[in-house]
Amino acid sequence: MARKGPNLIVIGRGREGAPEVLFVVFDDETGSGLHPRDRTPPFGAALSGAALEAAGIGSRLLELSASDVKRGDVPELRGVNAGVVAVEAGARHDAFLERLRPAVKESGGSVVALGMYSGMSADSILTRGLADFCVVGETEAALPGLAERLISGGGGGIPPGVKWLKPDGGIGFSGQSVPVNTDDMPFLPLSVLSDGRYRKNSFPVPIGRPLKWGFVLGNRGCRFACRFCTAMTRQSLTKEYRLCSPERLFEEMKHQAERGGRTIISVEDDLFTGDREWTLRFCGLLGKSGWKTPWIMQTRFDCLDEEVLAALKRAGCVGITCGMESGSDRVLEALGKKETVARIRETGRMIKQYGFATRYTTMVGSPGETEEDVMKTAALVRELNPTVVQMSFCTPYADTELAKEAGAPGGDRRFEDPASGICALSADRLKKIRLKFYARHYFSISYLRGHAAGAVRYLIENPRIAASQNAAFASFVARQVLRTAGLRFVSRRAE
Ligand code: SF4
Repeated sequence: MARKGPNLIVIGRGREGAPEVLFVVFDDETGSGLHPRDRTPPFGAALSGAALEAAGIGSRLLELSASDVKRGDVPELRGVNAGVVAVEAGARHDAFLERLRPAVKESGGSVVALGMYSGMSADSILTRGLADFCVVGETEAALPGLAERLISGGGGGIPPGVKWLKPDGGIGFSGQSVPVNTDDMPFLPLSVLSDGRYRKNSFPVPIGRPLKWGFVLGNRGCRFACRFCTAMTRQSLTKEYRLCSPERLFEEMKHQAERGGRTIISVEDDLFTGDREWTLRFCGLLGKSGWKTPWIMQTRFDCLDEEVLAALKRAGCVGITCGMESGSDRVLEALGKKETVARIRETGRMIKQYGFATRYTTMVGSPGETEEDVMKTAALVRELNPTVVQMSFCTPYADTELAKEAGAPGGDRRFEDPASGICALSADRLKKIRLKFYARHYFSISYLRGHAAGAVRYLIENPRIAASQNAAFASFVARQVLRTAGLRFVSRRAE
């Protein structure tokens, strides 16, 4: 049976009784065991919805879970006058799309696929009849114009950045869309934030009051091209690095804090400090304004130095996410990270001295990785002692350089499934390594000494969320232990 109203968020209001856009996104892509799991707003849908509101077209957001996808449910369309249903399209969503399109057609609407990744190409979606149109590239660049044309029947051609199936069976393409700068985009609608479901669980920072997360996007794209980078988790892949004005970003942060009641803000850029001068200007702006709301951001170790860290601190930044990936130079090189262990160590020590909360992401099972390399990663993590560390299995998603090099078919991979053939360590061994790594890190004396007081304050300030996060982590560890024990049992029986 289909889902009803409570999961719908109104993004923007349109003319009374006029058709709307229903955005369908999925909350099933990071896997239930990924620790700790963030819930980030779907920027493409939310920003497109805000742009549509300016054109008098309403929109809503529906988030479906892994179990919805498994059941093949289609959204309840009777309560929504959906002229366009715009759906994120990943490899596991084809059965869902197959059921959705006839239902949408019956009610007179069109299906638009967007945000395609992991084995779903626009051409295959169209030739299989899963959607009427595909937005290629950034959603917010093409979707508002396309939806407006479909709903209001506006003249002119299909906007750039759209593919469709032509009557002769060929694929129509309106040409590359021009990427949109944040300067030209509306603010993220407060209705999306005040719903409360979007949170940075990976940042359990105490700030003296409950965390109410705001989210902003300043810069887009990335100057680097790591071989494992996927559009599934990064908004930047293959996108040109673009800077918005510091003033525009500051205005949106102010809007979310003052009008939206947000007590902490996450700047979701993949490479926030990618331009040193821009970063110093932005921090100066916040410093001069007497800005008080804490905020966090993510970047690379080699895009930070002493002066930038001092400026971030003065501007109220309280937390930093960096991709460490590995403590082995050999593995970093194989990943195309273009960073060295020495640089990670040097910057990590500085970050620690400034007292930022930290979240460092690492990977295991990378190309050519050995047990010795993993031990180097564990030692580096122990030395830098981040607030949160995340260890993912190196995964050759279909859109990664890694997949091309390994000749891996891509498809339906997830962080929770170690890929075979990337390194000599077996999937079973990688799971055990990760479990041991987590246990050793989080139950070590140095971790408890460094972070226990902060964790208790976080728990007091956010009791409900902290309890559910701890329960999720405990259940993740228990499942991993059971699975590992099960694998051991099976392999012993096989001997
Ligand atoms: S630095 Fe981050 S966003 Fe940029 S390519 Fe590497 S993983 Fe992707």
